Amino acid sequence: MKLLFVASECAPFIKTGGLADVIGAVPKTLTAQGVDVKVMLPAYPALKGLVDQGKTLLNFGSFFGGPARLVAVNAEGLSLLLFDAPHLFDRPGNIYLDKTGSDWSDNHLRFGALSAAAAQVSLDGLAGWVPDLVNVHDWQAGLVPAYLRQSGRPAPKCVLTIHNIAFQGLFTKSVLPDLGLSEDLFTYDGLEYFGKVGFLKAGIVFSDKITTVSPTYARELMLPEFGMGLEGLLQSRKSDLLGILNGIDLDTWDPSKDPDLIATYSTRTLRRKAQNKAALERRFNLTPGGNGPLFCVVSRLTQQKGLDLLLDVLPDLVARGAKLAVLGSGDKQLEAGFVAAAKTYQGSVGTIIDYDEALSHLVQGGSDAILIPSRFEPCGLTQLYGLRYGTIPVVARTGGLADTIIDANAVALADGCATGIQFAPVTAAALGQAIDRTCELFDQSDVWQRIVRRAMRQPVGWDQSAQAYHKLYTDLCAS
Ligand code: ADP
Repeated sequence: MKLLFVASECAPFIKTGGLADVIGAVPKTLTAQGVDVKVMLPAYPALKGLVDQGKTLLNFGSFFGGPARLVAVNAEGLSLLLFDAPHLFDRPGNIYLDKTGSDWSDNHLRFGALSAAAAQVSLDGLAGWVPDLVNVHDWQAGLVPAYLRQSGRPAPKCVLTIHNIAFQGLFTKSVLPDLGLSEDLFTYDGLEYFGKVGFLKAGIVFSDKITTVSPTYARELMLPEFGMGLEGLLQSRKSDLLGILNGIDLDTWDPSKDPDLIATYSTRTLRRKAQNKAALERRFNLTPGGNGPLFCVVSRLTQQKGLDLLLDVLPDLVARGAKLAVLGSGDKQLEAGFVAAAKTYQGSVGTIIDYDEALSHLVQGGSDAILIPSRFEPCGLTQLYGLRYGTIPVVARTGGLADTIIDANAVALADGCATGIQFAPVTAAALGQAIDRTCELFDQSDVWQRIVRRAMRQPVGWDQSAQAYHKLYTDLCAS
């Protein structure tokens, strides 16, 4: 089976969030299962070195206002197709936002061009390689099936994966001619969304199947509280909507050989985790010792992640003798809130405003518990890292958090299956109670150690998910 992945991010080359991890990991696992996968993504400046090593397989000529080509290169176990269009992608800074923090004003052209180029490859193939199936990811690749439909030609089947429905790629109707899309598609049952052009909506309407990154999020997407206006459309496609849980890269996230830890450890050498805790306390200016747990946060600081609620309950957390290390960046008000908290509760709360991959490993390795009070969470990765590092996830009961963590209630504790703490609703009061429960469990050292060991043994790799994707592709190709 030949499969084309189309996305705007791919770890370890370019990453702003969990999407990149998925695109970096799933194709590798599918390749091991015998699938011939190519990953198409824009040639941002961070990928310039790879472009220079690669081979040009296709010249598009003048494409969306400038020269564009497709460069093939193998790297990190992936077969990459880099869409090199300097007028659209060769610019410094964030891949989606300009210096002022606003969306690049030509994002419709940038990702429209990516989608149009991917559609061309899907239809005509590349040096004899013609995909049987295309899996497009999020709004940035959402127009691929619209271009396929517009071509009127026989096309490979298309799967859309929604990683986060909060990002929909909405633009004014006036962009249609620049995108080379016909007005005929601009209808209620096409790509029109309340008078705008919706890239993600187009993907939902024109794809053969839709997946998202956890079974619970798949159900939530059909509800008004979570569907962000697309719930009705998704309900109408219910039989084509499937939740496949994300996994994590077990090589990169392995406490027994993680080079970013001070001391590596496994379930048999758990005592060594304390050395990471001590290093983390130094790094975050926290007072060493004490009897309470060390909580952490590794997150984008945004409304979605519910961390404003954590600010509300900080006095109680500190009063219980617990500590908190926050690694994050994003919303300026939340950043300021956590910086101020580190001053107010010096020694008990430490804040580092940054995006630091290496430090995120030490934070996972050195903390006792990780707080994830998200208002919605399509899948979430940090709770999975937490499980693997024996850093107990304390999570809101939503999306993938609900699917991956078993709450330490009395029944689960008696059955020996608890792996973390869940709470609902997502309010400061419920979060405060969850923190209390965590502290109580932490005080019972034997119980805590059993939960930690069980958490570390959870199957959080990609094998099961890749099998589910593989089955979906196989069924779709056969249909
Ligand atoms: P989202 O994609 O919504 O941001 P996920 O939990 O799915 O949330 O993925 C977030 C990813 O980004 C994880 O790999 C996490 O470790 C990483 N991350 C988030 N914030 C930081 C940070 N400040 N420093 C390092 N890594 C971070």
